[in-house]
Amino acid sequence: MKVLVIGGGGREHALVWRLAQCASVEAVYAAPGNPGVARLAQCIPANVSDPADLLRVAESAGADLTIAGPEAPLVAGVVDAFRAAGRAIVGPTAAAAQLEGSKIFSKRFMARAGIPTADFVTVETEAGALQALDRFGLPVVLKADGLAAGKGVIVAATRAEAESAIRGLLSGQLVGQAGSKLVIEECLVGEEVSFIVISDGKRALPLEPTQDHKAIFDGDTGPNTGGMGAYCDSRILTGAQRRDVMDRIILPTIEHMGAEGSPFTGFLYAGLMMTASGPKTLEFNVRLGDPETQCLLHRLDCDFAEVLMAAAQQDLSQSGLAWKTAPSVCVVLAAAGYPGEPRKGDRIDGIELAEALGAAVFHAGTRKGSAGVETAGGRVLGVTSSGPDLTAAIGRTYEAVRQIRFEGMQYRTDIGRKGLKRWAAVQS
Ligand code: AMP
Repeated sequence: MKVLVIGGGGREHALVWRLAQCASVEAVYAAPGNPGVARLAQCIPANVSDPADLLRVAESAGADLTIAGPEAPLVAGVVDAFRAAGRAIVGPTAAAAQLEGSKIFSKRFMARAGIPTADFVTVETEAGALQALDRFGLPVVLKADGLAAGKGVIVAATRAEAESAIRGLLSGQLVGQAGSKLVIEECLVGEEVSFIVISDGKRALPLEPTQDHKAIFDGDTGPNTGGMGAYCDSRILTGAQRRDVMDRIILPTIEHMGAEGSPFTGFLYAGLMMTASGPKTLEFNVRLGDPETQCLLHRLDCDFAEVLMAAAQQDLSQSGLAWKTAPSVCVVLAAAGYPGEPRKGDRIDGIELAEALGAAVFHAGTRKGSAGVETAGGRVLGVTSSGPDLTAAIGRTYEAVRQIRFEGMQYRTDIGRKGLKRWAAVQS
């Protein structure tokens, strides 16, 4: 089959990379793709927020199957547009994509469906927000209702921080219109896990658990980013924990979305906090996570395109996923200034050296410049490798990272280490 991947970041490069290796795939297209993707797929310029433009691209490429990487096209209704035109696509409808598109929708849905999540209130005014602060104590979590590219959530440790975040969000200063309504919620404590499934509207196939690292600096310090690295190791959750997450969170979500008239199809990503009283949902995303996808697809060991086609046809009854046992690690290389305004236009050296060590180097914020590939965004590259155990996977990934250079390059040096620490503590 011919497959089209919508998007142009690290997640999409990893998707293209995995799909290009599938026996069932004849050709891969990307809209718009990036310089790394262009080595594996034909890149076609497109406006990813415009379903009609994306449909035009799929038709011109003759795509048998389309996968939407980012949330913007999903929230804008790309799945509705493709289905109306009889084209196979993986993802939720615009109505179901509200699980990510609106935090208020998502929290109210969880309350109706009895899905474990943090206690919350929704507010639209400063007076209402300040009053709500008294209810939750400190720290407290403030969330912009709308899409904010990972920048709409603030965990405030002090009352002053909380008040300043409320003003910044409601005034539009921090994330624009997305912050005109807020969710204020209790701060949960525990280990965070990314749990992603692929659903056909009725069933769900779980992917392996992963852990993201959202803070910019080592030790989970500094401001939040889109994700500075992730690792995938089957030990992140026990079999009993996985069943618990499926039974208490994933399956009730799919069942209630169906019952409410918006069956959920595509990738459902539950950001979980594993609390002392069990897993609780921090957020839903309606697509694969980034960088989680980069290490997940490194471990995937089956014809992914066939499973995705079955998902698009809304029948996963005969499908399954297979995984390599070796854990994988993805380290994000970011530009100077990130997560603020990133510095752009610096030449990148050493990608081939990293690849020669067996790592997959996925492009996120790059462009072709006169002197080769250069930086063009906050998260520039994702370097992914695997090894017989997590220690080896971490070592190999950082060895590959050290081959790559660009002016102002920043990365965390502790990706995956929280897994090592946890398992060392369990053993001792
Ligand atoms: P979200 O986009 O809702 O997942 O929030 C981004 C990040 O904020 C999460 O990955 C958590 O680290 C943190 N966070 C969100 N909600 C909570 C909560 N209720 N308690 C503690 N941390 C939270």
